Amino acid sequence: MRIYDVVSYLESLFPTSSQASFDNCGLLVGDIQNQLSGALICLDCTEEIIEEAIDQGRNLIIAHHPIIFKGVKKITGSNSIERIIIKAIKHNISIYAIHTNLDHSLIGVNAEIARRLGVIFPRILQPSEHRLYKLSVFVPASHQAILTSVMFHSGAGKIGNYSECSFVSVGNGTYTPLEGADPFVGEIGISHNEEEMKVDVLVTKHVLNKVIQAMLEAHPYEEVAYDVLELQNKNLSEGTGMIGELEEPMDSLTFLAKLKQSFHCGSIRHTDLIHSKIQRIAFCGGSGSFLLNDAIQQKADIYITGDFKYHEFFDAENKIIIADIGHYESEQFTSDLIYRILTEKFVNFAISVTKVNTNPINYF
Ligand SMILES: [Zn+2]
Repeated sequence: MRIYDVVSYLESLFPTSSQASFDNCGLLVGDIQNQLSGALICLDCTEEIIEEAIDQGRNLIIAHHPIIFKGVKKITGSNSIERIIIKAIKHNISIYAIHTNLDHSLIGVNAEIARRLGVIFPRILQPSEHRLYKLSVFVPASHQAILTSVMFHSGAGKIGNYSECSFVSVGNGTYTPLEGADPFVGEIGISHNEEEMKVDVLVTKHVLNKVIQAMLEAHPYEEVAYDVLELQNKNLSEGTGMIGELEEPMDSLTFLAKLKQSFHCGSIRHTDLIHSKIQRIAFCGGSGSFLLNDAIQQKADIYITGDFKYHEFFDAENKIIIADIGHYESEQFTSDLIYRILTEKFVNFAISVTKVNTNPINYF
């Protein structure tokens, strides 16, 4: 088994193309073709984590936060990032980051938080925009079924819990093959009228090129007429944060106490408990203050995340309870999630979650 096998499986579920524009997901250090001796999973790739990987003989570190985030202009060991890179390369350890591509997934960081909170029917709080395309292709009736099937198999035609979605309409295509053409039907210099079908399918950004390539290969025409349109529709199966409900409303203080206990919080910074009961909960692992308005608009009773600044707490405006449980605390179960995903797929390979608590914040 190679590092490539693990990386390509993770990226089939959490494509790096779905990461935020500021992010730096993917393999950051190392050779993807190296044989895999084992993987160590963590939130932050610190020097201690590199030591742990060396001790355990693991040559792949899977970290949620990318160790290389901004430009690294020299690697002399003058700070911890440079020392981590040097040490990893010296010991032939690869470092892979699975960050906002995991945040943006329906089965990612926030799904794990939903599970821990006991939230039912979790859905994306702020669905992604500019991620959906309509692909329309014109094909002779004889090849419509096979062409559509090829596009489905390449990842087109998925809408929510439905697959193989398409719209097929019948019409007439016209063309005149010019000198040098090699038409599938028709003759050079003669205007041709062919009964064709138009197939419309929805395609997400991360499979668009793959679907177009497969469609072109399966199409009988040498010049294929097709349109790719970027849609304004939001992609409800991808985006930031989540919202959902508790099965039964819970007393606010009881809920906060449970939250503090299950997320091992040193403290919870929260605004006034303006609701006596909590049922609808919005949440986002990591730094999520930017989603507060989405949580308010969708009438969440409480918004749980990390990294709220002092002035941002005022934005609750008595419409919602903000609960800042801490960045690390909100994401701590992410390592277990990655562990579960990989061990369900691969058996018989050395993999573990770090025993190191990499939270740089202590509570006194
Ligand atoms: Zn984070």
